[in-house]
Amino acid sequence: MIETDALIVGAGPVGLFQVFELGLLEIGAHVVDSLPQPGGQCIELYPDKPIYDIPGLLATSGRELVARLLQQIAPFKAPLHLDQEVSLVQRQPDGRFRVETRRGLQFMAKTVFIAGGVGAFQPKPLRVDGLAAFEGSQLHYRVQDPARFAGRHIVVVGGGDSALDWANHLADPASPHRAASVTLLHRRDAFQALPAGVARMRALCEAGQMQFATGQVAGIEVQQGRLVAAKVLGGDGVTRVVPLDDLLVFFGLSPRLGPIADWGLAIERKQLVVDTEKFETSEPGIFAVGDINTYPGKKKLILCGFHEATLAAFGALRHVHPDKPGHLQYTTTSPRLHELLGVE
Ligand code: FAD
Repeated sequence: MIETDALIVGAGPVGLFQVFELGLLEIGAHVVDSLPQPGGQCIELYPDKPIYDIPGLLATSGRELVARLLQQIAPFKAPLHLDQEVSLVQRQPDGRFRVETRRGLQFMAKTVFIAGGVGAFQPKPLRVDGLAAFEGSQLHYRVQDPARFAGRHIVVVGGGDSALDWANHLADPASPHRAASVTLLHRRDAFQALPAGVARMRALCEAGQMQFATGQVAGIEVQQGRLVAAKVLGGDGVTRVVPLDDLLVFFGLSPRLGPIADWGLAIERKQLVVDTEKFETSEPGIFAVGDINTYPGKKKLILCGFHEATLAAFGALRHVHPDKPGHLQYTTTSPRLHELLGVE
């Protein structure tokens, strides 16, 4: 059980900046995100697109902004727990919150900051009867350890960058993780991926290192509890059986409000209702910042989230350090803030 002053749900730009504002007030934080990397929408949806409305930065990109935020919060050493979806937030008799993730992490937090954006990003599933039972063993929506696919018969489904990158990697004769066979399956012979990835795939197919088929998985074959083949309905209307050891599916990610809806907080149109003084939810001690909250005039912009994170941090003081006055100090002139930031 990890004890903390503040538990931040979501490592998008607003959750990351929340660490900074809490740190200036000497409130320690842990951050949890369901994705394997920090950055939320900035990294998942537009890492390389320019952003022009971050104050003081003429132009930046999703990736650069997140890198800068991570640098800015580094002095506060807030642990990031990635690939962990928060499933439970429950008030305890002593007023603190028990927070649990689906994969078993447990926290006891004095305050909770929900910076969950549009929800936890989840892989879009391939819906075929009986297939879900193989998730994590032979059905994969993410590759964490490519070595496990070496020497195996792989079917990759999808037409985006992830599908092509992994199919190319596993089929490449020079790859340390080379599979015994790779079949790439997509519903049509057109891809939403970088041209270089598509060209590499076509070259590997031409060299006989990979097979490409148009069609979709319509069923599966199971023998003695093992997934042994996919039934693929081709563009020509014929169903073929494709033997496999592992099925890798990359249909993209979709956000899901998910468990946040079950924590007993006031919600309006899938957003958490907050006040505009402290950005506190209907539950004292639980704050909501960024795209996840709603209040009159709300705008889903990063800079608005930064403002919300600042006032929410001050709002948390009475729960974490009730005896501290919470005067505003300037980072320019306060020796204490300089000490916290590790600057002269
Ligand atoms: P998010 O970035 O959505 O991050 C939320 C994080 O919480 C996610 O990583 C999610 O996985 C995690 N999470 C959710 N639920 C859980 C859970 N239960 N457990 C663990 N983790 C959880 N804004 C601008 O200001 N300027 C722009 O130019 C701009 N351009 C944009 C362009 C596009 C294409 C898009 C889609 C958005 C753009 N935005 C822009 C909006 C901006 O990206 C959002 O306002 C911002 O990302 C909100 O940040 P956030 O931290 O609140 O949420």
